[in-house]
Amino acid sequence: MMDAQPSYTLLRSRFLEAAQRHGAQLEHHKHPLQGPQGEDLYTDVAVFARPGTRKWLVLVSGTHGVEGYYGSMCQTAYMDTLAAAGRLDGEVGLLLVHLINPWGTAWKRRTNEDNIDLNRNYLDFSRPLPQNPGYEAIHELFTLRAGQEDDSRADALWESKVRELGRTQLMNVLGAGQYLHADGLYFGGVQPAWSNTTLRAIVAKYLADCSDAVSFDLHTGAGEYGHPMLMAIAEREYPGMEDARRIYGPWLYTVLTGASSTTDTGISAAATGYTSQAMVDTMQGKRFTQLVIECGTYTNPQIRGSALWNDHFLHLRGELQGPVYEQVKRDILEFFFPADADWREVVWVRSRQMFDRALNDLLARGQA
Ligand SMILES: [Zn+2]
Repeated sequence: MMDAQPSYTLLRSRFLEAAQRHGAQLEHHKHPLQGPQGEDLYTDVAVFARPGTRKWLVLVSGTHGVEGYYGSMCQTAYMDTLAAAGRLDGEVGLLLVHLINPWGTAWKRRTNEDNIDLNRNYLDFSRPLPQNPGYEAIHELFTLRAGQEDDSRADALWESKVRELGRTQLMNVLGAGQYLHADGLYFGGVQPAWSNTTLRAIVAKYLADCSDAVSFDLHTGAGEYGHPMLMAIAEREYPGMEDARRIYGPWLYTVLTGASSTTDTGISAAATGYTSQAMVDTMQGKRFTQLVIECGTYTNPQIRGSALWNDHFLHLRGELQGPVYEQVKRDILEFFFPADADWREVVWVRSRQMFDRALNDLLARGQA
């Protein structure tokens, strides 16, 4: 259902073409930087809604740029599916936020243009930022390889940390995020990123007057291969989680995040600054449910030597062309968006089912 090696430009043209064909209202948010081919980058918004619509289904793709290949595929396919069924009628508004981190999608990176993990960036930056002393002890690992001569030292440090903490705890410390090292992993930034302020502006514009909404943030890379996992992620219980449980029953995983939290879902429960939490906070007072779909790809026994790791060092070295660059980009795309046609079909079908349940639930509300 999509080329083995798609590009940002291809995703964008397919999305816009479908949106126009089906009569969407469109808006385009231009990113300040360009993609690897010098192409301009945009977050595009497609809206299908009747005037005065107060119930909304929201799909956001590409929070982690390279994961947007999956998210975009689903957004475009869902427009086509609803149109074919005669259901793109706007009774429940459909708000499609296409590639909220377009720089990351175009460059096939999980992070944004400032090496920020957007799912650590939705914080109140006027307050003290979270501390992660555990990360301080291992940050050196993520800068050493900038020079090849440091390889053996990095190997030794990594092995000693694995022995000291164990792989699971090491990954928990990493995944919790950090706010001191712009050249490190899981960096949360020191101010709201372009994608953060852009998403907030889109939500403020379309959802300020809504009564009911269900929103999906679309991800890949954690969990078992070909298994789309449905999650509600928040710092604490909120009313919309009850709707999620009612709509999805045992399909739903609930992850409550906090400094000492853990989860076996493959995502980090210790992190703060999730898009999900920002949406929940913004939509307070409305009947709102925020969901995450996380589609498992390859199991990653350790981060060292992984596609993500190699991509981190590629950009740290500023090696943005050549055969190593090409290979690393092929690897990271494959990790987050496998070329396997069965994988792509399964994640789409399962995602569509989850979207449909939300849409049907929203439609039924207020129709006693
Ligand atoms: Zn993700």
